[in-house]
Amino acid sequence: MSDNKCILCNKHDLNLIYEGDIRDGIYPKTKKSKILYCSNCNVETLDSSQHLTIDNYSSDEYRSNLDQFDPYKHESEHFNQYLFANDIISSMPIKFTGETILDSGSASGKILDMFGKNFINKLAVEPSFKFKEILQKKKYTWFKTQSDALKNYKNKVDLIISSKVIEHVNNPLNYLKEIYDLLKEGGRAVITTPNRQDILLNSIGEKYFKFFYRTQHLWYFDSKSLTYTANKAGFDEPHIEYKHFYNIDNFLVWYKTQKPAGKSNNIGIFDKKINDYWKSWLINNGTSDTMVLFLKKPYN
Ligand SMILES: [Zn+2]
Repeated sequence: MSDNKCILCNKHDLNLIYEGDIRDGIYPKTKKSKILYCSNCNVETLDSSQHLTIDNYSSDEYRSNLDQFDPYKHESEHFNQYLFANDIISSMPIKFTGETILDSGSASGKILDMFGKNFINKLAVEPSFKFKEILQKKKYTWFKTQSDALKNYKNKVDLIISSKVIEHVNNPLNYLKEIYDLLKEGGRAVITTPNRQDILLNSIGEKYFKFFYRTQHLWYFDSKSLTYTANKAGFDEPHIEYKHFYNIDNFLVWYKTQKPAGKSNNIGIFDKKINDYWKSWLINNGTSDTMVLFLKKPYN
């Protein structure tokens, strides 16, 4: 990387913080890469020469590298993640009604299946053509990109959901500006992304870096960098909440083996009470695996 300029804050403050193997597609495949840290806005980013483009996301190769070639298989394998998103969105202090809902990075449209009922227009932004057919079969209005959606829906959307997408886009600031432009005044957005303060990063260290950093994620946020980006996109009062997906077993298996637990992610001795406590402890400390950014477009 020759230029050390951060595209979020325009300062020449990018410094190398990690160089080595990172995840590339399905574990344990890795690729040599560099991660840079901006000391001004606090974001971390993958070496820009390795950034994927929107055309990569449209390609079948991208999905098959992740074993997500079959959209129905993708939907069923991510079912728990959808329930998690459902839990997050349901915790919002607003009613789910309005004219228009948009799911940005919708995959097969599971979130619209869950939340679309109370809306007249259901929009799905999804660059992968594999999912386009399914979305259109479900009668959702499909757009390849948010900027395509903006041609018809500027200032028209009541609620935008974006679940684990912002870390994939080339320019997260432009991505949030497009969300701002799509929303009506008073419209809301719920955006989730992995938390760079995740307890595993601080407790496992380099073995976990190889798993956490990945060629599909171009950006790694903490609360400071996420708030900074939202403010810069025009949202005056961004609010972040922490949520945690994995049970305590996942942490313990990682801690013991220094490897991901995969599907055998269940030691089988902890009950819901312990897991609820574990999650609320991480949430209170800001060291959970997921951040949720709540945005509201201000009234002029
Ligand atoms: Zn920066």
